[in-house]
Amino acid sequence: AKALGRNTYSFFTKQMNTVIQRRLTIEEQMRGALQRNEFILYYQPQFDVKKNEIIGAEALLRWLNPVLGSVAPDEFIPIAEKTGVIISIGEFVIKESLSLLKRWKNVEQLNRNFSIAVNLSPSQFKDLSLFNFIKTSLSNANIEPQSLELEITEGVLMSGESSITDTLNDITNLGVILSMDDFGTGYSSLSYLRKYPFNVLKIDRGFINGITKNNEDYSLVEATIAMSHGLGLKVVAEGVETKEQLTILKELGCDLAQGYYFSKPIPEQDLIDFSIRFYS
Ligand code: C2E
Ligand code: CA
Ligand code: CA
Ligand code: CA
Repeated sequence: AKALGRNTYSFFTKQMNTVIQRRLTIEEQMRGALQRNEFILYYQPQFDVKKNEIIGAEALLRWLNPVLGSVAPDEFIPIAEKTGVIISIGEFVIKESLSLLKRWKNVEQLNRNFSIAVNLSPSQFKDLSLFNFIKTSLSNANIEPQSLELEITEGVLMSGESSITDTLNDITNLGVILSMDDFGTGYSSLSYLRKYPFNVLKIDRGFINGITKNNEDYSLVEATIAMSHGLGLKVVAEGVETKEQLTILKELGCDLAQGYYFSKPIPEQDLIDFSIRFYS
């Protein structure tokens, strides 16, 4: 029993060491990664399902590091949050997105309304210069605020700090679009919809995945769309993977959709090519 105990102990120690080691390597490699141009944005197109038009794209961060290879945002964003690096990474994401919008305007075949949705993490809201950064970047790039959309999850709102409310009001008063991301996965999404100036609600892909399979998800999506419209919000279905899902979403009056059925997240030039092909 004693031997087993020791083996078990060393087994867990080894596992822990691997986890800690990876975390440390990520932290270490993330320092300077921005300067070394290891981050790049991919874009996933968003479709207006009624008009059958591409109306925008969500910017999704990718990190390719020489030591670690490709690291998923679900793994490195939480670490960037803890170390504070997320602030400069977040500024990079906004700047890059605005410069895509500028280039987009210059492509003749794409001369129509288009917006970019950017994800923001909780600690970006603790940075009091966020509003000014957004405002200045928009005016420097000469982009209308309506072309920029910010996606936040309820994690941003959980602290209930009044400075966050102020920032969100300032941002939306400027004309920037505010979206509630991953709707339905948290605890208090409903009360947040009442309290904060959201324009868009994104139904989490977990529910979309189930709409063709079970009544519960179908009913929840149906009710969420009706509720959103009652509140004057547009609805985006996330993670649409099949034609059957899209058909149901259309029937339920969903406004917008994104997911592998249309396109995976792709590099900027691929997005431009994809969109030109879509419209020709
Ligand atoms: P999210 O904001 O919920 O983004 C949607 C995720 O679902 C993306 O994963 C996207 O690639 C994936 N996805 C899209 N369509 C489908 C589909 O049809 N099926 C499936 N199975 N997945 C689909 P990704 O790119 O790995 O990003 C993961 C998360 O990392 C994002 O979740 C977001 O929370 C965070 N993230 C990504 N980029 C940024 C960023 O620039 N800033 C911040 N703060 N967070 C980011
Ligand atoms: Ca998102
Ligand atoms: Ca989401
Ligand atoms: Ca998510």
